[in-house]
Amino acid sequence: TVVTRFAPSPTGFLHIGGARTALFNWLYARRNGGTYLLRIEDTDRQRSTDAAVDAILDGLSWLGLDWDGDAVSQFARKDRHAEVAQQMLAAGRAYYCYASPEELEEMRAAQKAAGQPVRYDGRWRDRDPSEAPAGVKPVIRLKAPQEGETVLKDRVQGEVTVQNAQLDDLILLRADGTPTYLLAVVVDDHDMGVTHVIRGDDHLTNTFRQIQIYNAMGWDLPEFGHIPLIHGPDGAKLSKRHGALGVDAYRDMGYLPEAIRNYLLRLGWGHGDDEIISTEQAVEWFNLEGIGRSPSRFDFAKLENLNAHYMRQADDARLVGLATPRLEAELGRALTESERDLLTRAMNGLKQRARTVVDLAQSARFYLAARPLAMDEKAAALLDEKGRGILTDLAARFEAEADFTAAALEGLVRAFAEERGEKLGKIAQPLRAALTGSTVSPPIFEVAEILGRAETLARMKDAAT
Ligand code: GLU
Repeated sequence: TVVTRFAPSPTGFLHIGGARTALFNWLYARRNGGTYLLRIEDTDRQRSTDAAVDAILDGLSWLGLDWDGDAVSQFARKDRHAEVAQQMLAAGRAYYCYASPEELEEMRAAQKAAGQPVRYDGRWRDRDPSEAPAGVKPVIRLKAPQEGETVLKDRVQGEVTVQNAQLDDLILLRADGTPTYLLAVVVDDHDMGVTHVIRGDDHLTNTFRQIQIYNAMGWDLPEFGHIPLIHGPDGAKLSKRHGALGVDAYRDMGYLPEAIRNYLLRLGWGHGDDEIISTEQAVEWFNLEGIGRSPSRFDFAKLENLNAHYMRQADDARLVGLATPRLEAELGRALTESERDLLTRAMNGLKQRARTVVDLAQSARFYLAARPLAMDEKAAALLDEKGRGILTDLAARFEAEADFTAAALEGLVRAFAEERGEKLGKIAQPLRAALTGSTVSPPIFEVAEILGRAETLARMKDAAT
């Protein structure tokens, strides 16, 4: 069975590239009825913070990428990592290296000066530890193969080969007994039963070294799939301005998690020409073959289009829940029961036009605004003498209308316009200005019905005087 994992380092927020890696691992596990694990790679004690762990867990939960079992702390497994290094040592697949930092510095300088590639030269590979200088704590290095080649059959990149002569004897355990990243990842992936390692292709060079550790331990290799990184719209490395932000920033900008999932899925994976792919559909379709080999480009406009789509699909009550804190922050008070009720009735009209939750809250404000309504410039221009006259006459008709529904009000306004020999818009626009303070809004008769008779008439009268 399939076991995947997401293995973020908690040194910052969950950025959008990490979220995509998590999504692909999650989808692959769900697609195959497998298990999706979470491992927090917190071995770098200087840079790892609890706040970052929380941000990552929050971001994943918000995205709906639920992991199986408890998150594993890599740091907590350090004794196991050391144990494996000792096993390799005992099996003759690793050795103590007593070279001091100064000595290694000299070695590198000499290599540089000679125009040679800079790498550890294996000086302790065949030396006996009895020759060790006193007082030096050794590191443990892997006795890596020096001849032949290492071939990776990557599920995304295809076959990639490296000459073993190019890889030096990497450090497994530092002098202070802590494991290196390369060792920790291999031991954890092995112990956690990971069958598929899906990660960014910035890890490709690490993979060759990790394969050597697997081989030294005689462990089966997992499948690897290295995903091309996300680039900016200009093809350059993704910058903050172009979307290299934390998942929480996307939440704050008013994007829905299902839109982000769809967007991230398409950012590097394809299924024909399909752009709108629900998560349910993705769970059915996702495969490694569909991952492209070239870097994808981040495109905010596409994300917004997808978000607008998912906004229209979203449940009204849920959208009220999302818009409410934003509205309350603006109003500086809690919404009343009846305001929430009004918003719920208004939501279907509002969500048709909103691209984000931020938009949605913005466009809902007129419903809750105190009278007299503030008018934008264009709306104010519609309330000239003629406009005010129209509103006065129309208010009298509205008052007399027993059936205060969108359909009845529309019929009434149409008849009114016809009587006056005016186009419908000439009547509807001043009405819109009066009710919303703007010249764009959801269908205006719907707005009147939702506001109700008393509020509608009061706003009309405000605007008419
Ligand atoms: N911790 C690594 C990172 O954040 C990922 C390691 C891996 O996926 O093997 O980039």
